Amino acid sequence: MPKNRQPGGGPPLGYRAWVLRRADGGLQLRPTSSRWGAGMELRDTDRALVQAATAVAKLRCRSRHHTGASAARTADGRVFSGVNLHHDSGDTCAELVVVGTAATQGVTELETVVSVADRGRTVVGPCDRCRPVLAAYFPALRVILGEPDDLRVLPIADLPG
Ligand SMILES: [Zn+2]
Repeated sequence: MPKNRQPGGGPPLGYRAWVLRRADGGLQLRPTSSRWGAGMELRDTDRALVQAATAVAKLRCRSRHHTGASAARTADGRVFSGVNLHHDSGDTCAELVVVGTAATQGVTELETVVSVADRGRTVVGPCDRCRPVLAAYFPALRVILGEPDDLRVLPIADLPG
């Protein structure tokens, strides 16, 4: 079946058709998404980025203040990571911490991002608040989503706004 075609024919589907919005506003891919061609296969550097975010989550997300980690890579291979901040007055997501960390180092172009939740180290997509920020700052950003054994890369522009 050609990529982005509905099972049984019909017009091409956007990536949105394969994305589920979770109750917390985060995104994940539908379990069957890869069968229908959603997203791109991971590169070795993408797998390394997932490992980097997972390592940070494992090492640093050990309290209720920090429950997830993100890692982002520039086109020339520099990697920035960060954890979220949880507080009753409002949360700051790990993705935004990473953007700020990169900017602090003078880096304003990020190519790929992935986020990992602390429990079970599952890959989670950017939430409703972070997606517009990431899309505005980095219109060509690649986002890693999916199940641990079937991760995919989707353009930020193709995720639900
Ligand atoms: Zn967020």
